[in-house]
Amino acid sequence: MHQTSQGQQLKERAEKYLMANYGVRDVTLVRGEGSWAWDADGGQYLDFLSGIGVNNLGHCHPAVVEAIQAQSAELIHCSNAMMIKPQIELAELLVTELGMTRAMFANSGAEVTEGAIKLARIWGREKFHSEKYHVMVFTGAFHGRTYGAMSATYSPKVREGFDPFVPGFVFAEFNNIDDVDAKWTDNICAVMLESVQGEGGIRPANAEFLQALRERCTERNAALILDEVQCGMGRSGRRMAYQHADVEPDIVPIAKALGGGVPIGVLLARGEFADVFTKGRHGTTFGGNPLACAAGLAACKVIFDDEFLAEVSRKACKFWGLLEEIGKGMPDLFDHVRGLGMMQGMVLKKSAMAFPAIARKHGLIINVTADKVVRILPPLTASDEELDEGARRLGNALREFVEQG
Ligand SMILES: *Cc1c(COP(=O)(O)O)cnc(C)c1O
Repeated sequence: MHQTSQGQQLKERAEKYLMANYGVRDVTLVRGEGSWAWDADGGQYLDFLSGIGVNNLGHCHPAVVEAIQAQSAELIHCSNAMMIKPQIELAELLVTELGMTRAMFANSGAEVTEGAIKLARIWGREKFHSEKYHVMVFTGAFHGRTYGAMSATYSPKVREGFDPFVPGFVFAEFNNIDDVDAKWTDNICAVMLESVQGEGGIRPANAEFLQALRERCTERNAALILDEVQCGMGRSGRRMAYQHADVEPDIVPIAKALGGGVPIGVLLARGEFADVFTKGRHGTTFGGNPLACAAGLAACKVIFDDEFLAEVSRKACKFWGLLEEIGKGMPDLFDHVRGLGMMQGMVLKKSAMAFPAIARKHGLIINVTADKVVRILPPLTASDEELDEGARRLGNALREFVEQG
């Protein structure tokens, strides 16, 4: 008798009932634990994509699971017309740990980069003049897919067909302070960039560049917005990636890993920027609800620990070495490794778009950004043995990729 696998059946239903915006998908994950995940037919994978930088604590971290279970039996949702205890606690933790002043919660990365733009515009307009609403953004930038966030995003693939865009964004070249100076006008109210570009190809902003931007923003009355949606939350080996450059941003959007897998985003603001959103100026139904904040609180308590972060840095350094070792064995394919901490990109000399499917056949989940960059975001909790095993699978998959030409 012919048997169709569960995965195959789900694939047929997915293709029938879901919009095609994620393309063809060949794996249905049904369970996860730590660095590992299982598909509908029992296939096992090392998950070194972490749900695109969301599962920084691996799948179903016990502290997060426990917090969700306990909170879901107490209070799942109430409106922001009420005070919400886990929201207050998470705001306090984030603000004190990161030296910021106040927080506002939302549900996703796009919403909080969008919120950052709205905050900066109000500030520029009300404090200076009516034309001071322009935001400088950068080549390679990704800030999300809502209209404001997309208008601040560089990639033609993200933008194509959606014009007209929100006006008031000025693009300068990433890591090029001369280009920033050339494009600056007094109408600029903010400079927004990722401390490490994710979708743009795992490119860190240079420390000197971030410091120079900090100086320009202070001198010329603009807010420095550092988008830590992907590179924050311990991913770099520090709480936030900008801490490597020793700069203090004015506004910080964080999301992805903040909720340990539960959707949540936060906009942090420092000093005068913390008082811009006055009553009625901004809001969201779900943002900062009890369930998401309880999960966030549990995740933050694990990540914001100096010993935990020191381990992340040590393991990241080791993993970087493993990637370089693999690369050296295939000089025709491999260019270099770049990134920061556990946010690592293996830059290849040709398009890597076909590679993730090969890696999955080898039981490894990763993806590709900017066409040629294999993006590897292992859980920060991955053990040394799991990192070794991930590197072994990656090497085998890359060798198969080379053989296929
Ligand atoms: C993922 C991402 C976003 C958008 O987050 P969503 O939750 O997908 O809306 C914004 N900025 C950066 C740097 C990201 O990596």
